[in-house]
Amino acid sequence: MGWRAARNLLLTGLFFKLLGDYMAVREFRIAGALFALFGIGVGIVSLFEALRNECHAKLYADMFLWSITPWGIWTTARQLRAEIKGRKRAVADIKHYRPGLVVIPPFRGCWYVVNGGVTRDTSHSWELVGQRFAYDLVRVEDSSKLENPCSYKQLDEWATYGSEVVAVADGIVVDVSDGMKDNPVGRIPLSVKEILGNYVVIDHGGVYSLYAHLKNGSVSVRPGERIKAGAVIGLAGNSGMSSCPHLHFQLMDRGDFYDAVSLPVLMRYTAEGKNCEKYPLKNEIVCGFHSP
Ligand SMILES: [Zn+2]
Repeated sequence: MGWRAARNLLLTGLFFKLLGDYMAVREFRIAGALFALFGIGVGIVSLFEALRNECHAKLYADMFLWSITPWGIWTTARQLRAEIKGRKRAVADIKHYRPGLVVIPPFRGCWYVVNGGVTRDTSHSWELVGQRFAYDLVRVEDSSKLENPCSYKQLDEWATYGSEVVAVADGIVVDVSDGMKDNPVGRIPLSVKEILGNYVVIDHGGVYSLYAHLKNGSVSVRPGERIKAGAVIGLAGNSGMSSCPHLHFQLMDRGDFYDAVSLPVLMRYTAEGKNCEKYPLKNEIVCGFHSP
């Protein structure tokens, strides 16, 4: 039962209604009405279920209220502007893309890809060219918690929270931000002014890496600093537009998130015990590359 079931029942009802009209068969019309009624019933039950899950209801309410704050509207306007400016530069088809950089994972150990891929269906958010090839990552221990994040209310219950985040390639740090509080699990406070939260941007020679939602006070690099692949730059957290601890990672063609398009991330890593060099994919477990 759920939204999908309600929709399918309504569509089936409509189909029978149209068939009944077309063939002038009363029974079909009645069947259509029954399906539709059943669909509405399932829809109402689903609505009550969603509202009863207080934690989800709070998060949706938070996000809605945040979106109508002046900084929420400002953020949307900036993203819209970036979209319009970035459309032409955006990578549309991975087959024709020649990566200028191969990276290592932005963490140590094994992490789970919650969101991200190089196709429309697997993408973090295909329609947003600024985040089309972005990844949301959690430590493997936390992957099962995502089914019901509201059951794990304390930040410390998440293995991801406080885990080391590392530079994915050699480069120069160009932008950092720190000092934003980590959000309580399942909430987006109205005071969130920057959706990235605490973040680091590194220039790898024209390709930039971005690490967002870092833990408050954990950013350990400064702009201008030269950095080696694998060096710790901060800790994963829950700042910005983040309702449970995760790392948002992406590559970009410019250093400013609000002016850049995201680029596909060709990565050297180990998956299912095998070393590979490819684009990580949603639901995959990505581990650091084992040197042979
Ligand atoms: Zn993300």
